[in-house]
Amino acid sequence: MTDDVYVIIGASLAGAKVAETLREEGFSGRVVLIGEESELPYERPPLSKGYLLGNDPRDGGRVHDAGWYAENHVELRLGTVAKGIDTARRLVTLHPSDSLHYDKLVLATGSRVRALNIPGSDLAGVRYLRTLDQADALLEGLRAGGNAVVVGAGWIGLEVAAAARHHGCSVTVVEMDSLPLRRVLGDEVATVYRDLHVAHGVDFRLGAGLREFQGDGHVTGVLLADGTVLPADLVVVGIGIRPAVELAESAGLRVDNGIVADARLRTSDEHIWACGDVVSWFHPKLNTQLRVEHWANALNGGPAAARSMLGNSEDYAPVPYFFSDQYDLGMEYAGWVAPGEYDAVVFRGDPAVTGDAAPEFIAFWVAGRRVLAGMNANVWDVTDQIQDLVRAGWAGRSVDLAALADPAVPLDQLLG
Ligand SMILES: Cc1cc2nc3c(=O)[nH]c(=O)nc-3n(C[C@H](O)[C@H](O)[C@H](O)COP(=O)(O)OP(=O)(O)OC[C@H]3O[C@@H](n4cnc5c(N)ncnc54)[C@H](O)[C@@H]3O)c2cc1C
Repeated sequence: MTDDVYVIIGASLAGAKVAETLREEGFSGRVVLIGEESELPYERPPLSKGYLLGNDPRDGGRVHDAGWYAENHVELRLGTVAKGIDTARRLVTLHPSDSLHYDKLVLATGSRVRALNIPGSDLAGVRYLRTLDQADALLEGLRAGGNAVVVGAGWIGLEVAAAARHHGCSVTVVEMDSLPLRRVLGDEVATVYRDLHVAHGVDFRLGAGLREFQGDGHVTGVLLADGTVLPADLVVVGIGIRPAVELAESAGLRVDNGIVADARLRTSDEHIWACGDVVSWFHPKLNTQLRVEHWANALNGGPAAARSMLGNSEDYAPVPYFFSDQYDLGMEYAGWVAPGEYDAVVFRGDPAVTGDAAPEFIAFWVAGRRVLAGMNANVWDVTDQIQDLVRAGWAGRSVDLAALADPAVPLDQLLG
C-alpha cells in the first residue's frame, strides 16, 4: 500500500486510460480524475459519426460505465475546472475554491476548437463540434433539415457534411484550400474525398474566403469574400483545434505547440506527465517532437504515461494511427508524413470514385522506396502489415514499388 496521490487533469479518453492503467499495473494509492465536462469520460469519434447519424446511443462512447470508477477507487471530480498548479508545493487549485495535493500529476487536457471571429460569429445556429453537448445540439439542427454550410473541409467538417446529407440537408462546404484535406493527404488522395462528397450531392466552394455570417438573431446566410451569399439554416465551423495548454503555461511548464515532453511523456517538471492531444513528445523513431490529435494517441498515450509514472523505462514510439468514416467509405491511416514531404503516392487498387460507390484501395506515401504512411480505404485487416511497413521505412528499409502497387503480392511479403 502507498498513500501517494496521483492526480489526472482532463477526464476524457487519455485521462481515463491513465486511471485504468494505474490500477491495472497495481498502483494502490489515491487516483483522482478531474474533468470540467459533467459527462462520464467518453470517446469523441462517434460524435461526428454514429451518434450524429442518429444510429448510436448517446452514452455509446463511454470509456467506462459509472460503476467502474467506484469499483476501482478512482475518484471522479466532474464539472470541476483545474485552474492552477503550484509546482513548488505540488498543489492543484480547483474552481471555485478547493485544492488538492499531488505526488504525481498528469495533464490530459486535450484540445479546444479554434473559434472563428468574423461578423455574425455569435449568431444562433453557428455551431462547433467537440463535446457531447455540442453534438446533441448539432444533431437536433441536422434533423430539422434545410441548408447546412460547413466551414472547413478537414476530417470533422467532412464527417459532419456526410451526416448532414444523411439527414437530408442541402450541404455546402466552404474551404480556403484548393481541395479538402489537401494538407494532410496531398492532392492525390484529397481528390478522392472531394469526388466522394460531390457524388453524394455536396457543393464545394474551394479556394473561398469568408466575410461574414448574416442573420438577425439566427444565422440565415454566409457571405463569401467574392460576394456570394450562401443560404444557411445551420453553420458548422470546423477549422481545427489547438492544444489546451493554458494550465501548463501558467504553471511554467515548457510549451511549444503543446506541452513539451520527453520520449516517456515526462514534462519539464519531474512530477508532471502529459498525454493525448495536448502533448508534444519526443518520438524517438521519427527523431522529432510530435503532437497527434487522434483517438489512438489518447488510447495508447494514456497507458504509456501511467506506466512511465510507475517507473517503466519504455519509450512511447507508436506508429501514429487514425480512422475516419464518411458515407460508405471507411479508412484507416497509419504513419506520419510532414506536409508535402513525400515523393509519390503509390496506389494498390483503383481510387476512382464511380457513381456514389466508395472505392477500395490502399494508398502508400513513399520517400524514395521507403514507406512513410499507408491508408487503407474499404480494405480491412491490413493495418498491422501497413504499420510494419512504416516501421521498416523508419529503419531505412526499402520496398519494391511495383510490388507495393500489386494486390497479388501479400503486404507481409514486401519486406522479404
Ligand atoms: C467530433 C470528433 C470526431 C473525432 N473523430 C476522430 C476519428 O474518427 N478518428 C480519430 O483518430 N480521432 C478522432 N477525433 C479526435 C479524438 O477524439 C481526440 O484525439 C481525442 O478525444 C483526444 O483525447 P484527449 O483525452 O487527449 O483529449 P480531449 O478528448 O480533448 O479531452 C480533454 C478533456 O480535458 C478537459 N479539460 C481541459 N482543461 C481542463 C481543466 N483545466 N480542468 C479540468 N478539465 C479540463 C476537457 O474539458 C476535456 O474533457 C475526433 C474528435 C472529435 C471532436
